[in-house]
Amino acid sequence: MSVLVIVEQRGGAWNRMSWETLVAGQQFGGPVSAAVAGQGIEGLAAELAAKKLDRVYAVTHDLLRNYTADGYTAALEQLIRKVNPSMVFFPHTYRVRDFAPKLATRFDQVLISDAVGYRQESGGPVFVRQLFQGKLNADVKPGGSGPHFASIQAGAFRADQVVEGTAPVETFTPELTAGQIRQKPEEPFRESARAVDLTAAEIIVSVGRGIKEKENIPIVEALAKALGAELAASRPICDSGWLPMERQVGSSGQTVSPKVYLAVGISGAIQHLVGMKGAKTIVAINKDSNAPIFEVADYGIVGDLFEIVPALVEEVKKAKG
Ligand SMILES: Cc1cc2nc3c(=O)[nH]c(=O)nc-3n(C[C@H](O)[C@H](O)[C@H](O)COP(=O)(O)OP(=O)(O)OC[C@H]3O[C@@H](n4cnc5c(N)ncnc54)[C@H](O)[C@@H]3O)c2cc1C
Repeated sequence: MSVLVIVEQRGGAWNRMSWETLVAGQQFGGPVSAAVAGQGIEGLAAELAAKKLDRVYAVTHDLLRNYTADGYTAALEQLIRKVNPSMVFFPHTYRVRDFAPKLATRFDQVLISDAVGYRQESGGPVFVRQLFQGKLNADVKPGGSGPHFASIQAGAFRADQVVEGTAPVETFTPELTAGQIRQKPEEPFRESARAVDLTAAEIIVSVGRGIKEKENIPIVEALAKALGAELAASRPICDSGWLPMERQVGSSGQTVSPKVYLAVGISGAIQHLVGMKGAKTIVAINKDSNAPIFEVADYGIVGDLFEIVPALVEEVKKAKG
């Protein structure tokens, strides 16, 4: 089954979930192409052409300079009708949530949104979606003849597994007129401020509501400092203003994949997990042995963070001499 991956750029910069979605496409098992839409995207298309793909489509038009749901839907509908893939994959971004369901209905299909994985069965592919904050997994089988549409959850595939290669670039100029586009682009929604780039950190110490109050933050700060790690947090910590918003990890914060992620007093709600489950090694400290964070942790310490964290700081300092 052939896959067309629609990757995402904004103002010439990649959304890094694009690479994860490319991996989802590459691992699907059939021929894979990718498309990037916008204006002045030749450089981005060339970057894509260095991946193992059958073809790269640079979808360009003056009316695609700024994102609009109408513009993207019309342009990508024309591309999909031309390429005729079995599957179309998107990263599950805010933008994709905006236009992809509408695009899917143009083909009498629905968008299988926020999939965390898929498997191949004799009757065709089956996608997995999480329900009730990750308590249940639901299998979704696409119906009808296709093409089928699916968006892939952040962190479901690892961007560093993208396979390099070479692919030809084809410029595709859709037929668009200004009258087709009803939206007037405004300042885009910011998924989170990026003053701190947690995505580049090798070690992250992340703190949750278990820390109880703002005055206790220096306890985990000391651990981050001892380990040479970046400090991050769950959403309630940032919502309370105990740490700045740009340190938030999760579905409405940053998606990180460090070598080590230490979750301190974090329960492991699905919105937090999607932002950090791509970490190579996860260490959790929580006094509740049933906390869901332990389901993704490689190492778990059940106990009181106010005893464990200072003891860890001492040990790290000793080990570092
Ligand atoms: C649309 C939406 C988007 C969201 N986006 C995000 C997001 O981007 N990031 C995010 O993190 N959340 C997000 N959330 C919130 C998410 O659902 C959870 O509410 C949040 O992650 C919980 O944060 P927490 O684990 O710090 O707090 P809690 O769930 O309250 O967990 C605190 C944990 O600390 C432990 N604990 C308490 N005291 C101690 C102690 N002394 N020692 C050790 N452990 C202790 C407890 O056992 C508990 O497990 C979002 C929610 C929604 C609805």
